[in-house]
Amino acid sequence: MATLEIKDLHVSVAAEDTTKEILKGVDLTIRSGEIHAIMGPNGSGKSTLSYAIAGHPKYQVTSGSVTLDGEDVLAMSVDERARAGLFLAMQYPVEVPGVSMSNFLRSAATAVRGEPPQLRHWVKEVKQAMTDLGIDPAFAERNVNEGFSGGEKKRHEILQMALLKPKIAILDETDSGLDVDALRVVSDGVNRYKASSDVGIMLITHYTRILRHIAADLVHVFADGRIVESGGAELAERLEEEGYVRFTGQQEAAS
Ligand code: ADP
Ligand code: MG
Ligand code: MG
Repeated sequence: MATLEIKDLHVSVAAEDTTKEILKGVDLTIRSGEIHAIMGPNGSGKSTLSYAIAGHPKYQVTSGSVTLDGEDVLAMSVDERARAGLFLAMQYPVEVPGVSMSNFLRSAATAVRGEPPQLRHWVKEVKQAMTDLGIDPAFAERNVNEGFSGGEKKRHEILQMALLKPKIAILDETDSGLDVDALRVVSDGVNRYKASSDVGIMLITHYTRILRHIAADLVHVFADGRIVESGGAELAERLEEEGYVRFTGQQEAAS
């Protein structure tokens, strides 16, 4: 059992010569086996929440706490967070020139497990995970994210999750830029890992459609840096119909 507990989290970001408060008191608890969907308009601070938990240096926690099984996550280095069992899939995954996927995955697994995975077993594991996600084996020799399409990057993220086996995973807009088929493959990958583990998931999304493939236990609406409403899956359906107007007081631009 693992519990990620976020309490009254306030986060600021440095922008040019000012700092701006983005998160204004976020409270959220995610336990093993639960899927929490975080939904909200663009610019409401969803990615800021995931970056702050991941320890991105640009995002400064000014007050509040984040703990994993009682341990202070905010006091951990980025590596320590990963070793503690946290996984963050970036909304805009970085390219890593000169590093092949297979090397990247192996060093990430080594960092998380504290020792290099046994080669023969590892090769099998990677191959199986790639097959499950419909990733061409030739990808293993390509540089991380270099020239990957949006869908390929998202598959790669889920591949990382399946291999690193986190206790708590934060998936930021895993659905963005995916066509229907890719959305299904990626969702199946999330569901497969969920079924084979006891992972707790924070699924950040702007749209309801991924929740037709991945069943969220709880849906939270994020607006202006905090959670303004929580409910079950029906809340997501309601958002699909009504949009976020009720929470922002303004009509969203069509996108
Ligand atoms: P969301 O993921 O919900 O779309 P973000 O967390 O990306 O929202 O952004 C929330 C707000 O914080 C926005 O107004 C955005 O411009 C601002 N912001 C986020 N990251 C930065 C940054 N690195 N520098 C300046 N402003 C930022
Ligand atoms: Mg507060
Ligand atoms: Mg975002």
